[in-house]
Amino acid sequence: MNCWVLQGDDGVTLVDAGLAAPGLERALRRLGIAPRDVVRVLLTHGHPDHAGGLARLRRAGTDSEVRVGAADLATVQGEAPQPDSDPSTRLGRLFNRLPPPPGFGELEPTPDATALTEGDELDLVGGVRVVETPGHSPGHVAFHLPAHDLVIGGDALFNVFSLRPAPGFLCSDVPANLRAVATIADLAPGTLALAHGSAVTGDVAGRLRELASQAG
Ligand SMILES: [Zn+2]
Repeated sequence: MNCWVLQGDDGVTLVDAGLAAPGLERALRRLGIAPRDVVRVLLTHGHPDHAGGLARLRRAGTDSEVRVGAADLATVQGEAPQPDSDPSTRLGRLFNRLPPPPGFGELEPTPDATALTEGDELDLVGGVRVVETPGHSPGHVAFHLPAHDLVIGGDALFNVFSLRPAPGFLCSDVPANLRAVATIADLAPGTLALAHGSAVTGDVAGRLRELASQAG
């Protein structure tokens, strides 16, 4: 899975922190980045395979601020459980009854995390705009970097085997996630980076509109 490094004037901003596993620190080290260089972590959402690496990173020496979409904040702070899957699918109902699968990961609380909301503008790498894209999780956000013609779309879509909206049983609200795909299509980025699978280029808007309408 992918995390992103935004190299700003004040240090490194990380988008997503991966699983609670050593892989992130190793990957950062290969880029010449030490944990203490990370001044900020922006989360696309609060799932353990995106936020699980925070606690490790903190223990390794960063005192970075941590920000996450408002509706996922309590989960990241340890005040609320992971949201249920949308019960409209059989797999979703099954998923809600089972313990998290191995590899989905653990999430230690980050009590000092703070909220991101629609339209927040972060003064980094030419500007990072927060776009609320709930559905995969209630507080899922995408990050729009217009200066780089880039959207970091988290888990709204997966590009594993083929490009598709996040599987329904992994979403808290399937129809909302399809609207999120349409929202990202409207941003029409030249590049759409996703957490699972490679980035999408070319006619991103056209492909996303088609996926949103087919699935809808
Ligand atoms: Zn997720």
